Amino acid sequence: MTSKFSAALKLGDLNDFIAPSQSCIVSLSGSKEKALKLNNGMVEIHQSQKPAAFNQAKSASRTDPVKVTLHDCLACSGCITSAETVMLEHQSVDEFLNQLEAGKKAVVVSLSPQSRASLAAYYGLTQLQVFKRLTGFLKSIGVKGVFDTSCSRDLSLIESCEEFIVRYRKNHNQETGSQHDSLPMLASACPGWICYAEKTLDADILPHISSVKSPQQAMGAIMKRHSCHNLDILPEDIYHVTIMPCYDKKLEASRDDFVFAIERTGDKEQGSVGPQLTEVDSVLTSGEIVDLLQAKKIDFRALAEVPLDRMLTNIDEEDHLYGVPGGSGGYAECIFRHAAWTLFGKEFSGSLEFKILRNADFREMTLELDGKTMLRFACAYGFRNIQNLVRKIKAGKCEYHFVEIMACPAGCLNGGGQIKPKKGQSVKDLIQTLESLYLKEMQVRDPYNNPIAKGLYEKWLEKPGSEKALDILHTRYHHREKSVSSQYTNW
Ligand code: SF4
Repeated sequence: MTSKFSAALKLGDLNDFIAPSQSCIVSLSGSKEKALKLNNGMVEIHQSQKPAAFNQAKSASRTDPVKVTLHDCLACSGCITSAETVMLEHQSVDEFLNQLEAGKKAVVVSLSPQSRASLAAYYGLTQLQVFKRLTGFLKSIGVKGVFDTSCSRDLSLIESCEEFIVRYRKNHNQETGSQHDSLPMLASACPGWICYAEKTLDADILPHISSVKSPQQAMGAIMKRHSCHNLDILPEDIYHVTIMPCYDKKLEASRDDFVFAIERTGDKEQGSVGPQLTEVDSVLTSGEIVDLLQAKKIDFRALAEVPLDRMLTNIDEEDHLYGVPGGSGGYAECIFRHAAWTLFGKEFSGSLEFKILRNADFREMTLELDGKTMLRFACAYGFRNIQNLVRKIKAGKCEYHFVEIMACPAGCLNGGGQIKPKKGQSVKDLIQTLESLYLKEMQVRDPYNNPIAKGLYEKWLEKPGSEKALDILHTRYHHREKSVSSQYTNW
């Protein structure tokens, strides 16, 4: 996704904003070569008296420098703030290798299914082959364990199903006037969408967003608050890295909401708590994994396959990967099935066909009983569709009960951190390849039937939607004051 703000910067309007004195820094890196040439990667933005148009700033008297912080970042992969630069330095291949070399912490890696598919398409392998070879490679450089966020995603899906049922019942029994029970419920797994909602939309949209953590953060919480003990490692001695399809996940991992304090026996009595830890220490993208393999001159196709770590990996006894269909997490389909059964006793076998509406990125599915629509779900991908949806919600004209919202057109398989198409391959062709690869190998299994998820509830979280699950697998959102980015954008 690219905002007008970042697009303007790329187009060279930076010339209007470069000032000799440096007080607010926006550093530009990666593909922003034009900006880098302009001022060695560091520019200063001053706010004009009338910030409505960029070119007015040149002639207007310049006032206080605008502070651009991480909270202004829309994760558009356009310009990045100084705070984000620091964050990115901590979430890089170099830092990952530094941690391994230092050997002070046990490095564990959680691989997303979208990255696995991206690597499989790039190397012409199956997802399972990729998983086993990557596990072998990562362990050869010192990683202690490699896991699978399809597994934590099942917990995110279960919690989302529970949350939906509670909202639907309250809403339809009209037991509540609480905004927190608002429908439509909007999916929360995409940090690009969350970023946009918090920073540019009115506060009354936030209660619509599901409180469930994304699979990445659910995995972080599981790893550092429970499963590390099975590995016989203290949470503070774990350095947890995820491999994800987008850069926005780096921003998500850096949210203050995903920092927690460890409580140990005796802490409460002494009135103290243990160290503050982040659930996910670093995020690498699919493309960065290829960079790492290339930097180390690894012939990935020639690597040996090693057994997978089964503790938090969706693999059955016959070595089949399992999970839900859906390259963006399958939230709409999974919650629809669960709600149809739980609320109306309707069971669906086989795959669900979502009807394409105004474009391929806006699809819907309904459940009708006796001529009445009982459930109306949608998938809305890309900002054009999100904007239309938000407009309807604000106008009170949205008829959906649940919407799976994803910032990227075509969803997560098309994330900005995925490996780019090969020469001569179109983006469309690549996405189709990824979609078929993704579906072909995944044995479809209801998250409620995942033995690992069941075990985690039995031994630790008590039951889906319990107080403990709400504490550990749910989060909250924050309305941000309209900032510099929203002044210059018209999302
Ligand atoms: S839709 Fe795009 S930005 Fe959102 S989580 Fe997926 S890959 Fe990341």
